Amino acid sequence: MARASAQDPGEWVDGFLFVANRPALDFLNTKPVLAEGPTELLPNFDALERWLIASGIVNSARTKSLLRSWRHSAAAQAFLKELIAFRERLRSAVVRMEAGATPSDEFLKEVNARLLQYPPRTALRKREGRVVVELIFEPQEPADLWAPILQGVADLLSETQTQRLRQCESCVLHFFDTSKKGSRRWCSMNLCGNKVKVAAYQRRQRDGESR
Ligand SMILES: [Zn+2]
Repeated sequence: MARASAQDPGEWVDGFLFVANRPALDFLNTKPVLAEGPTELLPNFDALERWLIASGIVNSARTKSLLRSWRHSAAAQAFLKELIAFRERLRSAVVRMEAGATPSDEFLKEVNARLLQYPPRTALRKREGRVVVELIFEPQEPADLWAPILQGVADLLSETQTQRLRQCESCVLHFFDTSKKGSRRWCSMNLCGNKVKVAAYQRRQRDGESR
């Protein structure tokens, strides 16, 4: 991991990948296949804490210390377990969307039920002489962490440009293609793009030699 972050500081933040252009997909990508095989990057609540900070979801000192205080609680363990199971159902929904279908009714029902329980909360704030609507996130208990995650999921599920939603041609990662041409093929040039190009080059060399 340290090697990867040294190669590309923009894609790895504190051991997590941020290549997807959509928060819900970055969340999905917390189970990549690395050199050592499929890797769970959220094996415990400490890791989730680091991911929430790396992703920018948690940024206040108050929330950070709250997360720390929850670390060994049963509520935090239960939340993480549910969240990981949810991540895999989200994966199925994303795969369906990538195939041109809509997420299952069952999954939408689940997301809706959770949205009712953990709705996004907003507040009006003054910023540079103007009043703006800002999301507020002041969790009281581990389950409140659903709110910011669901918000990203709701944005993703209602995405209209689903043709830009894609899985990397060479690994399990998903991304939203924001390139001008819409021709992005890999999770990242460093992780897969170069690997594929090198393999193709080596194949050409080999085929050339055998002729
Ligand atoms: Zn890839």
